[in-house]
Amino acid sequence: MYRIGSIEIVPVVDTRVWVDPGGAFGVTPRVLWARVMPPDARGLVPMDLTCLLVRAGGKTILVETGLGDKLDDKALGFWGIDAPGDLPGRLAALGVATADVDIVVNTHLHADHCGGNTRVQNGEARPTFPNAEYWVQRLEYADARFPNERTRNTYFASNFAPLEATGQLRLLDGDTPVAPGVHCVVARGHTRAMQVIVFASEGEYGLFTADLASYAVNFEHLAWVTAYDVEPLETIESKRRWQRWALAHDALVILGHEPHRPAGRLRALENGRLSVEPVAPGGVGQPA
Ligand SMILES: [Zn+2]
Repeated sequence: MYRIGSIEIVPVVDTRVWVDPGGAFGVTPRVLWARVMPPDARGLVPMDLTCLLVRAGGKTILVETGLGDKLDDKALGFWGIDAPGDLPGRLAALGVATADVDIVVNTHLHADHCGGNTRVQNGEARPTFPNAEYWVQRLEYADARFPNERTRNTYFASNFAPLEATGQLRLLDGDTPVAPGVHCVVARGHTRAMQVIVFASEGEYGLFTADLASYAVNFEHLAWVTAYDVEPLETIESKRRWQRWALAHDALVILGHEPHRPAGRLRALENGRLSVEPVAPGGVGQPA
């Protein structure tokens, strides 16, 4: 667990997938990324689907829901995994039932961030968290509902349309407070309306990057953007803003998909480069 002032944050990895590094690293040369993210024998790199269990202001908040379990054999093969995600099981192990979650925040609606929003019950996709309101940016929802030839392989209506049907969907128009010290802030680039999560409590600060920076190295290097970003030049400007903010606030940075350095603090090195220095859970504020 990480503590930021009075806010408690538990990272929960839905599952670890293995993906083509061409997607994760785009035009970055292999000789550079292979040093920090060595591929396996299949030539694939690991990607943790990091979700956050957040307690703030008396609310139980879940940021992201991972890939979920609505996966056929073809989808399992695409993600390089043998078994689907199991966020409900991992939450149960922490003593949190699906009915306990008050708010689910999706940073965006790519399948690896919202697949666990719903699961199949009696043959149809139903909300996994029966009492939760699901928060997503209105523009992101529009892009997901009306995908194009490039985006339709990651925007699946079964992950979000059922929420509209049950009245559990809340569409956000820009930056929005979630609970005391917890804010959704739009950081465009990966998608037109992806949002990061910003934490501020009792003089301590934190940032969940989602795919603004999938890996720590993406946060360190402005030019390292994924091939999936729909507006890569906007990603660079968004990262520039949040790099400065993280440095100025000595913020705990939690990355969206990082298996090796899942959280850390951004440091400016003497050679002018930036480095994410790992911080272990319990290493912030009071230990867990
Ligand atoms: Zn992602």
